Amino acid sequence: MKDLDALLRKIDGRGYKAYKEIEGVYSFGSYTLSIDHVQGDPFAAPSRVSIKVPSQISKFPKELWSSPIRKKALQDYIGRAALRAVREFVRGGRGTGKSGQVDIASGNQQVLIRNAVNLSPAGVEARITIGLPADGRRILGKEAQKVFFHELPLVVDRGLVFSNLDPRHMACHVESVEDQHFLRNWLRENKLIAFVGEGSILPRRSGIDDSPLAEGALPFKPPESLLKKVKLPNRGEIGGMAIPRGVTLIVGGGFHGKSTLLHALERGVYDHIPGDGRELVVTEETAVKVRAEDGRVIWGVDISPFIDNLPFGRNTTGFTTDNASGSTSQAANIMEALEGGTGLLLIDEDTSATNFMIRDERMQALVSPDREPITPFIQRVRELYECCGLSTVIVMGGSGDYFEVSDHVIMMDTYAPLDVTEKAHSLAPERLNVSPAPALTPVESMNKRKPPLERLSARRGKKEVKIDTPEMSTLLFGEHRIDLSSVEQLVHIDQTRTIGLMILYYAKKYASSSPGLVEGLKLTLKDVEEKGLDILSPWKVGTLALPRLHEIAAAVNRIRADA
Ligand code: ADP
Ligand code: MG
Repeated sequence: MKDLDALLRKIDGRGYKAYKEIEGVYSFGSYTLSIDHVQGDPFAAPSRVSIKVPSQISKFPKELWSSPIRKKALQDYIGRAALRAVREFVRGGRGTGKSGQVDIASGNQQVLIRNAVNLSPAGVEARITIGLPADGRRILGKEAQKVFFHELPLVVDRGLVFSNLDPRHMACHVESVEDQHFLRNWLRENKLIAFVGEGSILPRRSGIDDSPLAEGALPFKPPESLLKKVKLPNRGEIGGMAIPRGVTLIVGGGFHGKSTLLHALERGVYDHIPGDGRELVVTEETAVKVRAEDGRVIWGVDISPFIDNLPFGRNTTGFTTDNASGSTSQAANIMEALEGGTGLLLIDEDTSATNFMIRDERMQALVSPDREPITPFIQRVRELYECCGLSTVIVMGGSGDYFEVSDHVIMMDTYAPLDVTEKAHSLAPERLNVSPAPALTPVESMNKRKPPLERLSARRGKKEVKIDTPEMSTLLFGEHRIDLSSVEQLVHIDQTRTIGLMILYYAKKYASSSPGLVEGLKLTLKDVEEKGLDILSPWKVGTLALPRLHEIAAAVNRIRADA
């Protein structure tokens, strides 16, 4: 093993490139430090190190990570603890650019499968980034010594050693995630699509802050008729609003909490940390929020169930455009979600194209059906449930037309849900006032759709592979700029980064051999689930977090032809 202290003294004051000499493995007694990659200059992405604490010292009890779910939860917990220790003990700002900055990838309100912290029988490994200190391009060896010999040992001690962490807090984290998995399975067994626990805090602090609203939040109180009790393995018996499969409407006056409830359901596909307020809000895991997204690209999607007879006889069974309208984009989003195997669509009138959702009687009288290419969603929603088993939850405060096609109607009244199904059904006309649409094209026929291979190139300039994620909603894949701002169930930039690498993996390994995009992505996900996120990157990184199939497909579906 090398002597880091001596090396740092030797290169002190030299040009930044000399930092390369410190790549290697060092023993710190209670742990080993591996400097895996040294950055090129103080402004570049920080250097990557990994720290291994052997099990005799870290001592995380086996029962806390005895199943894959517990392991995911405990790794998440340790990552958060290490980040807390970084914030407490690392000074940062030790020179130019990112000098002295230390970071470990960690989650926000959700608990995701990540590769920043890895538990194994040998112990725990944490992957950390460090901005190696410099003044301009001149190495500040003494500052680096402070990071490696004063700060990091404290981070390791307070973040990666069981006996220095709060055991009750830790167990609560693990058990809560386990309960959420249990609830999601219970949903499926009981033919339910969502559960909102009594007392949940649904509203968020703001549109850009995903933490719970701190003051004045009204806790969720389930309506008696939809109340179900369930016994969780750790928390014991709880009650909550259980939404059965079928077509569910959320109605109510403006600003009464409809969209807030739907947002909570969108996020219920993920596990939440204790204290989030939505740790008992759980949704069918394949749920997809679909919305209008005018301007998006569409390639080869069969939107004919919703849109047909376009002007000039334009084909809609393999619809391609660089600039979709509100209705064509919403139709494509639904068909792509179906292609990805979703069992639940979540739709909000706030983000829908009105002409896609409804067409009232007067408009039908004025514009004859042969002049109207759109079959509104209202005419398909029952068929989608009865033929394809696809449930829907729709927020619709502005039109009562959906009463007659709904199974359940929930009214949000001053943030409290009421079951108004009977009343709504009594108001609905006896027969549909909409003419039934021709039968849906079987969904299987969609499954063979594949992106044109040349669109999957990650090349940019001289670099064969160049993938960047400037922000959560933007993926730069080769020359392509992929806009994910309407993909509302992405929750972390590390997922976006991972999506980029998964598209690359899919392109190399499965795109030409597998019959369709979804099959190829499923194989990609299977490889990652079996072998871990590390198979995606040629370097050791700790900044990957697992996305769902739907979000990976959403990214591929938004790659433009002309980059
Ligand atoms: P709608 O979609 O019915 O118009 P929203 O869901 O957008 O209404 O909610 C309106 C406002 O009320 C938002 O600012 C939201 O944060 C807040 N809100 C929602 N639910 C609650 C609640 N349970 N307690 C307190 N405020 C809430
Ligand atoms: Mg709303």
